[in-house]
Parts: sequence; structure tokens; C-alpha cells
Amino acid sequence: MIYKRSSALFAEAEKVIPGGVNSPVRAFKGVGGTPIFVKEAKGAYLYDEDGNRLVDYINSWGPMILGHAYKPVVDAVVEKAQKGTSFGMPTEIETKIAELAVSMVPNIDKIRFVNSGTEACMSAVRLARGYTGKDKVIKFAGCYHGHSDSFLIQAGSGASTFGTPNSPGVTQGTAKDTLLAKYNDIDNVNALIESNKGEIACIIIEPVAGNMGCIPPKDGFLQALREVCNANNILLVFDEVMTGFRLSKGGAQELFNVKADIVCFGKVIGGGLPVGAFAARNEIMNHLAPLGPVYQAGTLSGNPLAMAAGLAMLKELNNDGDIFTRLEEKTKYLHEGISKVLVVNDVTHTINRVGSMISVHFDEGAVTDFDSSAYGNNDTFKKFFHGLLNEGVYIAPSAFETWFITDALSYKDLDFTIEAIDKVSKTL
Ligand SMILES: *Cc1c(COP(=O)(O)O)cnc(C)c1O
Repeated sequence: MIYKRSSALFAEAEKVIPGGVNSPVRAFKGVGGTPIFVKEAKGAYLYDEDGNRLVDYINSWGPMILGHAYKPVVDAVVEKAQKGTSFGMPTEIETKIAELAVSMVPNIDKIRFVNSGTEACMSAVRLARGYTGKDKVIKFAGCYHGHSDSFLIQAGSGASTFGTPNSPGVTQGTAKDTLLAKYNDIDNVNALIESNKGEIACIIIEPVAGNMGCIPPKDGFLQALREVCNANNILLVFDEVMTGFRLSKGGAQELFNVKADIVCFGKVIGGGLPVGAFAARNEIMNHLAPLGPVYQAGTLSGNPLAMAAGLAMLKELNNDGDIFTRLEEKTKYLHEGISKVLVVNDVTHTINRVGSMISVHFDEGAVTDFDSSAYGNNDTFKKFFHGLLNEGVYIAPSAFETWFITDALSYKDLDFTIEAIDKVSKTL
């Protein structure tokens, strides 16, 4: 494939945007080469500035669960845009999407909309601190909760790709309130709670980790977290920015039958526009301003275009009784197809999958936490990435990312992908 125009556009971008990108993982630092510039996208395909067609397994890092330029979402945005794009005053559509989200997700009474997953997680932790009157937070190594200061401590994907798990600019004062636990290791969590008795406001977790590859929670792990939170007056925060409205209507809470105290959303909930949200029972949400003392605000929060896209997306997911099964079946088909060709071509690998999240690790052991994920062979991944790109298949340019399956992918697309992987595996 030819990337002439993408390379030229990247060179221009580098002059005026740090690293030529507005989010670091886009820059291809983890795999080498220069990033692809997208011209447009439709359904399962991206079309780049050089006229190449790529089958897309990133889907804007999750939001485009029904495919790109999905008509009901586009129509809703276009219609709204003609009536004014922002007011900073209440609009009916905010209530409509809130009602629908509250009806789809278990154990929440109220939801507050923000502009990104970062904001959602940052606000959720402030609320947890305000509600409990405690300062410390437990997070898991390799889990990503956006780029706010408290979370830039072993934060998975973007941060790990660059080997800078702790960013300069995060103060020691902030870092000392974030305690790091090992994913899938309840004894480790118990020990942290024991040595910080009465100081922990919340445990925040990706209920299925998606930012160190896809890592499912071990059987009983989320339940055990629920119990230890109950016993110690700690709030359990599920960061469902990736899993919400993707693993099921009610996200991971529904899939694993575990109730969280606060739930964070992003990605799918915005239908491809900048939206995040956090939600909880009344008792907790009523601590937020203007009802309560915990401050949180946003000029563009609940923006009508964003709400129109999100509402159209949630309606589609809510009305299609078969969507999550269909996504899971496609992902399973892809999983089996990839396993088969990697085995035939004698490539050491482990594949993790939950619902429509899947990751391929070039590592023979089980991948269950950040250490085992980081153990994978990055040189093999780089070759794999560039090989697939050359065959017209786009996966994330980092070994620490999940692939997101969209309903727009046909079985023909999946077969095309499996054949491409077969071809590339012979060169690894
Ligand atoms: C993407 C992501 C975030 C951050 O969301 P942004 O919209 O990029 O700020 C937070 N948590 C999880 C689990 C994510 O996957």
C-alpha cells in the first residue's frame, strides 16, 4: 500500500501539533512508521487519504459499535445541528437520554453527562471522596481511567506504550493518594485495605480490563471486590467507559451480576461524539452540585449534538434484542479463525475475549494482569501490525490495545481478516 499523502499530512501536522497528533497512541510510536490519515469511513471500513480501504478493528477506540457513519446517528446529529449547536441551558433531549440510560443500566437512579471518559472518571472519584469523606483510591496496574492526575499511575496502553507509567507533572502529593493493586489478585487488594484502614474512598476498576489488551476478571474477583467494599465502607466504581453499552445493555454490571456504587461511561454512550457520563443511586448522586456540596460542571456538558448522537445510538442498542449476541458470535468466529491460522503457522500466542472485545498476545502463558500482558513479544506485534496494515486490516498501533468488533463487519470481512492474518503469520 502507498501512504504518500498520509506521510505528507503527518509532516505538516508535526509542525503545529505536538507529535502531529491530539492523542499520543495515534502517533504509531509503539509500532514505528507514520500514522494513517483518515479521509472518511463507512460501516466497517476506513478510507485513508491515499485511497486505501482498511477493515477497521478500532472503531474510534470503541464508540462505533454499529459501524461508521451509521445513518440513524448521523441523521440525528444533522437534524439537531440545524437548530443551534450549544445553549448552555437545559434541553429536553438531555432528560430523554438520561431516562433511557437509567432504564438500561442496573442499579443507577441518576446520571450526569460530561464530555469525555476522563472527565467521567475524575468526577466519579471526586464524588466518592466527597461522599465517604476519605481520600485514598485503589486502582489496578494496567487499568486506564483517562489522563487526570490521580490515574496516571501505571495506566496501561498509551502510557505503557511509551514506557512512562508515571507522567511528570503529577505531584507526589497526588500520587500518594492512589494505591496500586494487581488486577485479578484479591489478596493484594485486601492487604492494601488492611494497611490503609479507614482511609480508602473507593476502588476503581475496569470490570473487564481493555487497556492492557482484553483481560477478563477471574471468576469471583468482582464479587470479592464487592464484598470487601461492603465490609470496609468503600465505594466500588466500575469504569465502564469501554464496556458500557458494549458487553450488554447494562454493561459489565449486568454481565457479571455485580452491582457497582458509581458507574462511568464514555465511548459508545456518545455514538462517536465527545460524551462521558457517571451514574449512581440517588443517595450518592444527590451529593453533586447543585443538590449537594461536590462540585462538577461543564460549559458543553449535555451538548445537544452529542446528546442526539448518544440517544440515537442507545435507542438502536436498546431496540435490537439480538445485537449483543450477534456481536459476540462474530467475535467468537474471528477468535476461532485467528487461533486456527496462528496454530497452523506455529505462532506462539494467547487470545483473550469477552463479548465484542478481543486481543491477540504473542505470549504463550495466560494473560491475566499487567505483568503478563507486558510480557508479550513486541517485535512480533510490530511485524504483525504492519503486515495487516499492508493487507488492508487496521488494528490498534499498540500491543496493549483491545480490538473492538462492530456489527457492520460481515462474515466476509471476518474471513478476509483471517486470510490476511494467515498470510502475515507466515512472515513472523
Ligand atoms: C477510553 C477510556 C477512558 C478515557 O476516556 P476518554 O474519553 O479518552 O477521556 C477511561 N476509561 C476507560 C476504561 C477507557 O477505555
